[in-house]
Amino acid sequence: MSSAKPIDIDTLARDLRAGSRAALARAITLVESRRADHQAAARELVQQLLPATGEAFRVGITGSPGVGKSTTIDVLGMYLIDRGHKVAVLAVDPSSARTGGSILGDKTRMNDLSAHPDAFIRPSPSSGTLGGVAAKTREAMLLCEAAGFDVVLVETVGIGQSETAVCDMTDFFLALMLPGGGDELQGIKKGLIELADMIAINKADGDNLKRANITAGDYRGALHILAPRSEHWHPPVVTYSALAKTGIAELWEKVVAHRTAMNASGDFAARRRDQQVKWMWTMLEDRLKARLRSDPVIRGKVKQAERDVADGKMTPAVAAETIVDLLKD
Ligand code: GDP
Repeated sequence: MSSAKPIDIDTLARDLRAGSRAALARAITLVESRRADHQAAARELVQQLLPATGEAFRVGITGSPGVGKSTTIDVLGMYLIDRGHKVAVLAVDPSSARTGGSILGDKTRMNDLSAHPDAFIRPSPSSGTLGGVAAKTREAMLLCEAAGFDVVLVETVGIGQSETAVCDMTDFFLALMLPGGGDELQGIKKGLIELADMIAINKADGDNLKRANITAGDYRGALHILAPRSEHWHPPVVTYSALAKTGIAELWEKVVAHRTAMNASGDFAARRRDQQVKWMWTMLEDRLKARLRSDPVIRGKVKQAERDVADGKMTPAVAAETIVDLLKD
C-alpha cells in the first residue's frame, strides 16, 4: 500500500464482503501495519464490517510442537469444507517476531487445506508483544468472518500466556495431547486443563491405540477433580488420529454440542460479551502506553520517573500518579 494513495475503505470492505481473498489478505495486512494512517484505516474498516461478524465457530487449538496441530487442522479443515463450511486458519505465535518466522499457520504444513478455495490460512502476525499479536489476530478473525468464513481455527503453541490469549478470543478451546504413560500426566499444566473445553488425544493409531485410551482415562480422572469452568459443560476427553483420519467427526460433534449447550444456558453470549470488554481494556492499555511513548516531552518525563523509581528517589505509587497526570489535558 503506497503512502501516496489514500486507502479506499469502502471498496475494500465491499470486495471483502463479496468474498475476495485478495481483499481479505489486504485488509489483514492493513490491520497488521504499524503505520498510524493504516491503523486508523483498519479501525474504520473493522468497525464498518462489525455487523457482518460474530456468526462463526471460533475454535482455539493448542498443543506442544509435534502433537499434530497442523495435521489435525488440515484434516479437520477438509472435513468441515466437505460439509459446506468455509475455514479460516489463524495463528498466535508470540515468538515469531524473535525468530523471524512462524511455524504456526504455515501453509506448507497444511497441504490439502492450503490448496482449497474454501480455506484461508494466515500465519501469525510478527508483532513484538503477545498483546500485539493477539490484538491483530482478533481483528483478522473478524475480517475472516466478514469475508464469509464460518469456522475460524486459531492455532497456538503450548505456552501459558498465548494459550490464555487464544482462549480469550475463541468460543471453544481445544487442547491436543499425546498418548503417554501416567507419569507424563504429572507434568500436565493445571492452567491449561482449566482453560480447555475439550482434551483430544491424537495419534490414537497402531501401537499407540491402547496407550491413548489409558491416557484418556487419566485425563478424565484429572479433570474430575477440577471445578469445571461452566456448570453446563464438562470438558470431554476424546481420542482420535489425524493421520488415520479417525475420530474427526466425533471431535467436531463435541464442538457443536458445546455451542448448543452454551447457547441454551446463555453462557455463549456471556463469554463473547466478557471477551469484548476485556479486549477493549487491552486495547485501551495499549493506546495509553502508545500515547506515553509518542509525545517526546511526556516520554522524557516518564523516563525521568523511571530513573527516580529505580534510584529509590520516588515511590512507584507517586510515579504512577505523576505519569497519569501527564495524560490530563
Ligand atoms: P505440530 O507441530 O503440532 O503441528 O505437529 P504436526 O502436525 O507437524 O505433526 C508432527 C508429526 O506427527 C508429523 O510427523 C505427523 O505426521 C505426525 N502425526 C500427526 N498426527 C498423527 C497421528 O494421528 N498419528 C501418527 N502416528 N502420527 C501423527
